Amino acid sequence: MTEQAAAISIRNLRKTYAGFRESPAKLALDGVSFDVPQGQIFGLLGPNGAGKSTLINILAGMVQKSSGTVEIWGHDIDRDHRNAKASIGIVPQEIVFDPFFTPFEVLELQGGLYGVPEALRKSEELLRAVHLDDKRNAYARTLSGGMKRRLLIAKAMVHSPPVLVLDEPTAGVDVELRRQLWELVVELNREGVTVVLTTHYLEEAEELCDRIAIINHGQLIANKPTRELVEMAREKIVVLTLDRDVAALTVHPAFLKCETTGERTVEITYDKDRTNAGEILALVQGQGFAIVDVTTREADLEDVFVTLTSVAKEAA
Ligand code: ADP
Ligand code: MG
Repeated sequence: MTEQAAAISIRNLRKTYAGFRESPAKLALDGVSFDVPQGQIFGLLGPNGAGKSTLINILAGMVQKSSGTVEIWGHDIDRDHRNAKASIGIVPQEIVFDPFFTPFEVLELQGGLYGVPEALRKSEELLRAVHLDDKRNAYARTLSGGMKRRLLIAKAMVHSPPVLVLDEPTAGVDVELRRQLWELVVELNREGVTVVLTTHYLEEAEELCDRIAIINHGQLIANKPTRELVEMAREKIVVLTLDRDVAALTVHPAFLKCETTGERTVEITYDKDRTNAGEILALVQGQGFAIVDVTTREADLEDVFVTLTSVAKEAA
């Protein structure tokens, strides 16, 4: 191990996809450096097109980096490819399966590909871990989307890697399945697996991750413990339904934003360090409105981005 206890260590990573015919070359990673500490659940957060999958696919050996260095569990992916590969399990963004294999066969085949001797394979144990033991002999094509995702996680773990990477594990899945996948990730992490996951949901990163790095346009714009990052999103929103037309409402300086969303509904954004929802409500009631309904929302990823990019501008 070169760095002190980094599961993954990335330095000045660049990737330019070559252009093809009319499409120009694309700089997908623009000098990214960070460490993933051992034992954590680490979130790589960013909007679509930010470069998350490019980074993951470089770790997986499926995309060739243009420059920079990557170490996985202390093994350089160029100089020590075999050990680097053995140290990581990857769950790709796209679900691809041969429909005619059963979950048990999928795991046995993958174990074979990774050179795990038959006697040491843990296919049954892995099926239990992802709650698919009752689907042991079902064809993959008959599994639900959620079962397929869980099988992919088991497949990534056949060689017992210390690091598991999941690329957008919950994109487009329903709330219940999302919860199940989160629980599975937490269980694996408790057993000692370092987990890296990419997501474009702040809520997911906030709920699961010890640390979050944010990537945007191929550049790392933040890398902090989750709590600190969430604190940076100072804005909160109250959504109000009033007893009459919102048009009569006068904007107060405490309202950072005041957005009419219907005849009688309005979303007021405020700085949670300076005021609170109660004061905002009092300001609205002070203008003679009755409040019919109220909900609050935390700032989302986009708000964090706005905060971060404006902080960067102020500092520049
Ligand atoms: P994310 O996973 O964060 O959505 P990607 O890593 O998939 O982002 O993409 C980053 C950028 O690289 C995007 O602009 C995307 O269009 C581009 N890109 C991704 N894969 C390729 C490819 N194989 N060839 C050319 N451009 C690509
Ligand atoms: Mg992606």
